Amino acid sequence: MVIYSASSYVLLGVANVIIMSACMDYCDTIESCHGHDDTMSDRQHYIHAFNFNKSVEKHLHDLDHFKLSCKKLLAFPLDQVDGIFVRSVKNCIFSESDPTPLKGPLRLVAVSKEVIEGMLDLDVAVSKSEDFLNYFSGGRLFPGSSPLTHRYGGHQFGYWAGQLGDGRAHLLGEYTSRKGERWELQLKGSGKTPYSRSGDGRAVVRSSVREFLCSEAMHFLGVPTSRAASIIVSEEAVWRDQFYNGKVKKERGAVVLRLATSWFRIGSLEVLAKAEELDLLRKLLDFVIQEHFPSIDSNDPGKYLIFYSRVVNETAHLIAQWMSIGFAHGVCNTDNFSLLSITIDYGPFGFMEAYNPNFVPNTSDEEGRYSIGAQANVGLFNLEKLLEALTPVLTIEQRQGAGLVLKGYPRIYQMRFHKLFKAKLDLLGEEEEEDEYLIAFLLKLMEDTGADFTMTFRQLSEASMQQLHNMSNIQVMWALQNLASHKMYPEWVSMYLHRLKRQGGDSDEERQHRMKRINPRYVLRNWMAESAIRKAEGNDFSEVELLQRTLVQPYLTQDAAEEAGYAAQPPWWAQGLNVSCSS
Ligand code: AMP
Ligand code: MG
Repeated sequence: MVIYSASSYVLLGVANVIIMSACMDYCDTIESCHGHDDTMSDRQHYIHAFNFNKSVEKHLHDLDHFKLSCKKLLAFPLDQVDGIFVRSVKNCIFSESDPTPLKGPLRLVAVSKEVIEGMLDLDVAVSKSEDFLNYFSGGRLFPGSSPLTHRYGGHQFGYWAGQLGDGRAHLLGEYTSRKGERWELQLKGSGKTPYSRSGDGRAVVRSSVREFLCSEAMHFLGVPTSRAASIIVSEEAVWRDQFYNGKVKKERGAVVLRLATSWFRIGSLEVLAKAEELDLLRKLLDFVIQEHFPSIDSNDPGKYLIFYSRVVNETAHLIAQWMSIGFAHGVCNTDNFSLLSITIDYGPFGFMEAYNPNFVPNTSDEEGRYSIGAQANVGLFNLEKLLEALTPVLTIEQRQGAGLVLKGYPRIYQMRFHKLFKAKLDLLGEEEEEDEYLIAFLLKLMEDTGADFTMTFRQLSEASMQQLHNMSNIQVMWALQNLASHKMYPEWVSMYLHRLKRQGGDSDEERQHRMKRINPRYVLRNWMAESAIRKAEGNDFSEVELLQRTLVQPYLTQDAAEEAGYAAQPPWWAQGLNVSCSS
């Protein structure tokens, strides 16, 4: 019997089994390596500390009282050259440059109440005001805001691409919320900067809708991500060759307001190391550690190595989380990999439908470098590049230590992947020898039958054990029906049901309840985004709103979403869809 297919191996990332000691030395506790979910990360630690004993007051109704701060970031050496013209920038982390306001009548077409109220302490009613349109499309600046564009570089599709930077994004400043959380606010699509290279500094409606919907959806799926507060659309013409076939089309410009704890990327450090600006490299590292890794002692001579081990650990976890929901980022270049291991820069991403480790969401990625099954290995590549950037500030012993940390990455990833998939199947209790086999066996059946990734796990969560055993009762469970067409399904299901019975204890309902909180019913399938975008391009944003509403509760069956077919078999036209890098 076939246990793993070669591609399941890639997906599971078990090709390199590295001794755990390599990573253990650099994890604070055994739990921080093993039990990510049970321990507090730096991110959680920070939020927790501030949340304690603070009550949330009423929301602000007036944007004129909304304040940002750029103080900390302005303490870095700034670009000495003035003006927006494109250039090679040296010896700085940021350039000062203001957004270029969008032209023409502006319209707010999407807003996230969760972000506006829960993160920015604003009453969502302010989003209806003229002020909101101006402030969040780049037409007006908040008190304390001194817009910055970040100088970073990156490895793109495996090669060093040199200086990239914020070519169409402006960091407005940092907001400290009443809960004590700090958010860096960024406009995307807000005009040219010194880093625009040959670009126009703009973003179009379709890519803005995708970023807005997906970053919010990822948050509610429990995946670390940047957030999106709003989309403002203008009549300003933006010209794009969407499919790179010479057919340039007029589209409309849009600005997304997005938030993250920090927008620093692997490429932020790489550009400094490549330029041999080592004092600045240390300065940026010290800043990131002090601001975002509070559990690392800034006087510890090993702090950069500890920082590296944290990023390795969290990146492994992030990619395992992507895999657990069938998410392919699409452009895993080092400039799109956050130092805080959150998902950033949504472009030609995709959620895998028919299970296929070779699924490539970005049609411009002809070689499939960023296929879903390659993401764990690409993470390794990116962490290697991060290590190269850190090398000049590490001692020889620390470099060796960092090498060992990196060697531990496949194992950490594999453990995380295994833990997440065990939870998806509700394999509880003591680890059993055959658990890994059970997961890989299922993935193999899914691969052979092209079973839908999201709905297979969801329907396993919704079906009773009796139904799973006797497939004749589950006509409506379209993904499971597909899976059950495999001649080895009876063997797998019998193993699975035995495993569930062995752990015993509770009822079908309790198992279903647990599994339905882990396996979403709705993800942002490409065809769903596409359908909403087609309407949005004709100025009807109702489907964008429906998707947003649906994806805030991806685990809950919702009437409107069911009516829209969001949990049904993808429509026939979904297969022919293309998503390119054009945005
Ligand atoms: P991305 O693929 O969106 O991560 O972008 C890669 C690089 O290209 C980043 O430096 C972006 O700022 C830049 N870029 C992408 N689109 C544009 C644009 N329309 N104008 C200026 N820069 C852009
Ligand atoms: Mg990017």
